[in-house]
Amino acid sequence: MSFPEFVTQYEVNIRLSFFFGIFAVMALWEIVAPRRALTVSRAVRWSNNLGLAFLNSFVLRLLFPAAAVGVTAFTAEQGWGLLNYYQLPLALSVVLAVITMDFIIYLQHVLVHAVPALWRLHRVHHADLDYDVTTGARFHPIEIILSMLIKFAVIVVLGPPIVAVVIFEVVLNAMSMFNHGNVRLPLGLDRVLRLFVVTPDMHRVHHSVEDNEANSNFGFNLSIWDRIFGTYIAQPRGGHEAMSIGIHQYREPRQVSWLPGMLALPFIGKISGYAINRREWSNPDEQ
Ligand SMILES: [Zn+2]
Ligand SMILES: [Zn+2]
Repeated sequence: MSFPEFVTQYEVNIRLSFFFGIFAVMALWEIVAPRRALTVSRAVRWSNNLGLAFLNSFVLRLLFPAAAVGVTAFTAEQGWGLLNYYQLPLALSVVLAVITMDFIIYLQHVLVHAVPALWRLHRVHHADLDYDVTTGARFHPIEIILSMLIKFAVIVVLGPPIVAVVIFEVVLNAMSMFNHGNVRLPLGLDRVLRLFVVTPDMHRVHHSVEDNEANSNFGFNLSIWDRIFGTYIAQPRGGHEAMSIGIHQYREPRQVSWLPGMLALPFIGKISGYAINRREWSNPDEQ
């Protein structure tokens, strides 16, 4: 059996083994050497954040039983998509596809911060009062559905090999758990890793309550997109231990830490002054 055949056949097993394997490693690391003290108990955080993640996988299975791999196979059968058209060597197609999909994820992340209605959905991810491995799995179901539809559109236009889609999904999932980790890497290692990929300290800046910090470090895998497009901030002003995590206006645990509150979060309150067209510049040099 070739590698692509193996990946296609055992896709679900591969994904689940990576998920549980990396989750276990990160969870253990957080218990042994946490970066910050949690403000809400681990029992509440994990049951509700993971509850939301399980709800999301159920919704996705229900709505899109063929999933991204099914859409990729269909796209290939039809001969659609750039990479099916040009017929490059498989390894090159895989690398191009994974990098392109990572770039699209970056753009999508900027988009959900910039458009007020989409920010309402995405703030479920940001309203977490703490930052740990389960934060990486907490997204509103409507944002998850939207992400899936964007992914389908990208697959149809790009025509990636199935193996690239599986690699991308596994890597994104693994990196999301890694870079939401409440862990500390040695500073030297963090500095070297950051040249290539997003580290926990780099993504933690994105979960700051400070608006300019939350609107930076949008990347999930490769760190290069934030550097190229000018959205990179190296460290939080308040320092990693003292910085506040979450969103200014939403600090009530019933609203932001419990599942029913999280599901309702996009639908409460007025659209905030957070959107790009209402940003107030205090420093004229920044314009
Ligand atoms: Zn975000
Ligand atoms: Zn995040």
